[in-house]
Amino acid sequence: MTERQQLLGILGLIYLSECIRWVRRGGVVFNRAPDLRVWRKSPFLNNPRGDIHVGWPLPPFGEFVVARGLPFSLDSDGLVTATTANLHPDGPAPQPIQHLTWEECARITVDGERLLRDHKVFWLADTAAEAARLGSLLRTAAALPAPQREAWLETTTKGLFDVPTIRARWESSQAALKPLRFVGSALWTLMFLLLPLAVWQWGWTPPLWIGIPALFLGSFWIARRLHQLHAQWFPEARDDRFRLVLLAALSPVTAIRSAEVLMRPRLEEFHPAAVAMALLPRDRADTFCAQLWRELRHPRLPLPVSTDVGNRRLGRWHDRLLGALREAAIANGSDPDRWEAPPGKTDSAHARFCPRCHSQSTAAASLCSECGGIPLKEWPTETTNSAASSAAAASASLPDPPRPSASSPPSP
Ligand SMILES: [Zn+2]
Repeated sequence: MTERQQLLGILGLIYLSECIRWVRRGGVVFNRAPDLRVWRKSPFLNNPRGDIHVGWPLPPFGEFVVARGLPFSLDSDGLVTATTANLHPDGPAPQPIQHLTWEECARITVDGERLLRDHKVFWLADTAAEAARLGSLLRTAAALPAPQREAWLETTTKGLFDVPTIRARWESSQAALKPLRFVGSALWTLMFLLLPLAVWQWGWTPPLWIGIPALFLGSFWIARRLHQLHAQWFPEARDDRFRLVLLAALSPVTAIRSAEVLMRPRLEEFHPAAVAMALLPRDRADTFCAQLWRELRHPRLPLPVSTDVGNRRLGRWHDRLLGALREAAIANGSDPDRWEAPPGKTDSAHARFCPRCHSQSTAAASLCSECGGIPLKEWPTETTNSAASSAAAASASLPDPPRPSASSPPSP
């Protein structure tokens, strides 16, 4: 291998490493590579804390957006740092579960990706932008007078499923990122096509005299635009902004991927079901939302908390999420009752199915081991083999699984 080929190979490897994205568990990835697909778990590498995804490496590059909604269960008297939803199929990243009152939330501060309370780590977020947003949200709730908190909870839950806002933000972001993508694509073409061809034709010196200044000029322009958009979209994540802008200005390979880096946390605060409704074709969004709906309706056992207070906060948040998801689905033209229809039988010997994961088994089994022991259901007799039978009929066969208690909070 010649010296020129070695250099191009090293540059290519550095560039590919810039396409790798680490996503902490609980984030649902919408990755256009080159078609827009949704991933709850990486098809490549993962560990108990998160997954490694790969962004589309070729111009004009894809989109890489992570949606995760709220990782906490909120209630009128406080929160618990867990939910009944398992957005990652293997469960959330291991973090100590904490119960806080709103008074305690007033002391929350942010340091990079960490939320701190009394200088101790209280929650580790996926990105600095997420940590800044969560910190701001919790401090806002803590500052509210108690009687206003119920209305705030209502607005916050509905905001997670605000499909029109997601569509509008997506479109305005795409328009704002267009020049960044264009300059990024030009830098990619210069770095990986034009410069190697010129070096091969005329040797090192003439092409590098023109190519290197052009690469850094492009990088500086991208860094400047990155700074403007980041300050506009994530005003509180100052440290993160400084790091990203510095890296983009000093490294053309990093600058090329700046649009993707900016877009990643842009829809993070929304529930993945709502992002799917906004971005995916109707049939694919419906399949994805049906799965999330069933998992919310029938949470995996055991539940993440066992205390009375935690169980109540979990249960009330769970009910709010279900209500808001139902409302958003109906507004989007879907019918959540159909999402609970029994699956078609894959074998005539099957007598029961899991209402959560739709696995099927014979009459001998009564619990789904995959879902931690959720009671299986029997197919309603009049609609056997039909995937379109009603959810109401399906729920008549076996008792509902245990679910978090949503009793009223104690009076202040
Ligand atoms: Zn199951």
